[in-house]
Amino acid sequence: MKICSVEGDLSSDSGAEQYPDVSLCDSCIAKDGRYYDTYGMSRIFQVEAYDPAYGSCEWCNKTAQQEADEKAEDDGWALYE
Ligand SMILES: [Zn+2]
Repeated sequence: MKICSVEGDLSSDSGAEQYPDVSLCDSCIAKDGRYYDTYGMSRIFQVEAYDPAYGSCEWCNKTAQQEADEKAEDDGWALYE
């Protein structure tokens, strides 16, 4: 999980609404990287350390706990490879 400045409502006069800070999980951040590879543009402008105050992922609603559980699972499988 990271806190990211993303493209928001660009027609708004408020900078906070044009580029709101939201929490995104690592897989959504990776997805944005693929979007960048395809379209040459990114929807994430800045990535900062995760702050639990922002809650679950803005794009897919995954919580920090779910992400931690998935990582633990991945690590578990890695042991058998
Ligand atoms: Zn997500």
